[in-house]
Amino acid sequence: MLDPYEVRKDFPILERKVGGRKIVYFDNAATTQKPIQVITAIKEFYEHYNANIHRGLHTLSQEASEAYEEAHEVVAKFINARGTREIVFVKNTTEAINLVAMSYGLRFLSRGDEVVTTLMEHHSNMLPWLLLEEVKGVKVKFARVREDGTLDLSDLEQKLTSKTKFVCVVHVSNVTGAINDVKELAKLAHDNGSLILVDGAQSVPHLPVDVKDLDCDFLAFSGHKMLGPTGIGVLYGKEELLAQMQPAMSGGGTIRSVVYDSAREACKVVWSESPWKFEAGTPNIAGAVGLKAAVEYLKRIGMENVAEHERKLVERTLKGLEKIEGAKVYGPRELDKRAGIVPFNVEGLHPHDLAVLLDHYGVAVRSGYHCAQPLHEAVGARQGSVRASFYIYNTLEEIEYFLEILRELKPLG
Ligand code: PMP
Repeated sequence: MLDPYEVRKDFPILERKVGGRKIVYFDNAATTQKPIQVITAIKEFYEHYNANIHRGLHTLSQEASEAYEEAHEVVAKFINARGTREIVFVKNTTEAINLVAMSYGLRFLSRGDEVVTTLMEHHSNMLPWLLLEEVKGVKVKFARVREDGTLDLSDLEQKLTSKTKFVCVVHVSNVTGAINDVKELAKLAHDNGSLILVDGAQSVPHLPVDVKDLDCDFLAFSGHKMLGPTGIGVLYGKEELLAQMQPAMSGGGTIRSVVYDSAREACKVVWSESPWKFEAGTPNIAGAVGLKAAVEYLKRIGMENVAEHERKLVERTLKGLEKIEGAKVYGPRELDKRAGIVPFNVEGLHPHDLAVLLDHYGVAVRSGYHCAQPLHEAVGARQGSVRASFYIYNTLEEIEYFLEILRELKPLG
């Protein structure tokens, strides 16, 4: 069992006051707060063993390299990857998806090939494929969503053809919290001879995720949405696929050797193995150290406990919002089909006005399209929505406070 009051003691920022009131942080789908263990790990790196990795023989460089490599190992175990060759450190989910679109897409996809994605994607899992459409003439198809924001699986199935090379789907929607059955989708994709990329930005931080069990080919996620620092994210890829791919960006650290052949007046390049060939230049070493501490923190709590805690918070929020006149909630009704995100609107109030009002009471929520405009269109929220998104340090008490504010707003609606 997760005790959010115990957890909160590790998060100094939660003592912060906004508008004279203790902050209620419900913007976790955008980014999460950081526990003292993560802040300390980064501070210790800079205070005790800051150096560049892989290049030096001196002690500090050895220690920094070890910590950087250990971070890959900890992340690999966390998602049950086969090893560190499957774990590429990038900046964030967006960069991870772009890396696949460029490294795999530019090289292996050609005019007439198809990519099937969905209308419930974050723009980060649409635009890299649309760019590939422009550059390579690949056709991008969008599977429909139902009125409750869930994926129309039969529509996706119908869109798969012999030309489909990639299926790119979100695991948990950052708008509705709807959970896609990625294991089933991977089977569908593979039976069709296609690869599957999963956007795990909202699943890895909130649910147990096992890449072997899901059998996804690629999985992208961000450290900053799972207690880690900004500027560090992960691309998981099956080893055999990453081995075939060339880097999207190259430079220091990506090669085993580059030899100038003066007879031919040309260079011969031998790329390093994954993940190093994809991590060009000096990486975010402090970020990796912070991410390792974040993963260790989550492992100590247990991902089942994280998911269970968020379910309780969502259940109470949905029940409370149901009773508020003029409030409309988006997303599936069944609790086992959604993670800790609740998007809603209150009749007569623009989402931005509601977010500003809530901020006045110290409640931080997000408003707008949350980088998923097509999904808002699909569920009939043309002006966007207000999104409350929860994490391990949120309490039922905070939900009651938030609902109380909304009940008082009612006459305005
Ligand atoms: N996909 C999903 C589902 C997300 O929620 C987000 C962040 N809102 C992203 C992709 C992009 O993440 P980042 O900005 O960290 O690259």
